[in-house]
This record gives sequence, C-alpha cells and structure tokens, in this order.
Amino acid sequence: LAVIIFDLDGTLVDTTYLHTMAWSRAFADCGLDVPTWRVHRAVGMGGDRLVAAVAGEAVERAAGDQARERWSHWYEELKDRIRPLPGALDLMQRLHADGCTLAVASSGSRDDTEDALAVLGSGRLVDVVVTGDDAKDTKPAPDVLELALDKTGHGSGPVLAVGDTVYDVQAAGRLDIPCIAVRTGGFGQAELTDAGAVRVVDDLTDLLELPTSEWVPAAGAPAHDQ
Ligand SMILES: [Mg+2]
Repeated sequence: LAVIIFDLDGTLVDTTYLHTMAWSRAFADCGLDVPTWRVHRAVGMGGDRLVAAVAGEAVERAAGDQARERWSHWYEELKDRIRPLPGALDLMQRLHADGCTLAVASSGSRDDTEDALAVLGSGRLVDVVVTGDDAKDTKPAPDVLELALDKTGHGSGPVLAVGDTVYDVQAAGRLDIPCIAVRTGGFGQAELTDAGAVRVVDDLTDLLELPTSEWVPAAGAPAHDQ
C-alpha cells in the first residue's frame, strides 16, 4: 500500500494567486515594488525563504519580518476566497478507500494549513499533516516531506509525492521520492519535468482514473499526459 504525500497550496487548494496577491501587497506596505510574476514563481517556498528569493538578502535582513507580518495580514483578508482545486477531494477519497496513507506536507504555517484543509473538507482522509511550523526548513529543502514520511510510519511500500511547483519536485528528489506534478500552481510542464517530475498532469482529475501503480511511468515512457 502506498504513502502519498501531497503539497497543499496550488495542489489541493486554489491559493497560489491569493498568496501572490498577499505578498505583493505586503511588499508594497514595506515600500518595495516587486513585480508579481517574481512573487508568483517563488510561492511554494516558505515565507522564511520567499522574501530573500524575490527581493534579495538585504531586504530580508532589513524588512523580512515586517513583510511576513504584512503578508499574514493580507492573506487573512483573502482566506474567504480559498477553494478546493478540481478533483482534489475526489482523489483523496479514492486513495483513502484504496487503503493508501495520505499525508499533507506544506511550507505554510499550521494555522493556514488547517484553514485550507477545512475548506477542502479532507478531515479524516488525511493521516498526517506537517507544516512549515513543524520543520527546520521549508521547500525546496526536504524537511517537511521527510517529517511527513516519518510520521506515517511507512514500511517498505511505495511512496509518492504530489506537488505543483519545482520546489516540491526538488524536495522530493532529495529524498528519492518520485513526484507527480500538477499545473494548477501555474508552473509549466517543461520546467516541472526538467526539475525531475515523473509525470505532469493539468490537475488532479487527470489522476482519478489512473491506478497509483501506474502513476510513475515506466522508464522510457513520456513523463507527461497528452
Ligand atoms: Mg504548492
């Protein structure tokens, strides 16, 4: 029986652009003009990494905590717009019924993770939840995934990760866990494949009819669905 470790934002819930807008407003509050496309492409890292990634180390040192505080304020304002992504709950229900162990590993905070999972309605389907609050480092570091895997008490069965960003794919890769990528976070097929994704699908509905044993394509098979 498989262990499936899901990313949350952009994978199970449609929050990528909410995070982008919240960060954009937070940077503006700090007097910084950061183009939103740069913010968008850094969403998926934790907030501990994002400020330096988009605005540089000097800004992180001078205003990182202020930016995170403002981000938290603006994200709270946008939380009523969180929606599940297509197929997310259906897929989790199917995997749970199949006897898979389901984990959620997010770079976000415990509170934000619980709020998003409540919107998703995945409650009893999820066996393990690990957040950025639980780990020393966020994605692309493998810490949240590693902790999630430890908590599932997995045996020798297959382990798969599912995420929407190159940071998910990189984190999984550091643990030699195959990662399926969805495009619902806005990353393109080529860059997800280049990062090491074993399969790229548009969204989770594309996995609904596919047995988990076939999620990882055989060597030589195309790593994306046509
Ligand atoms: Mg994500």
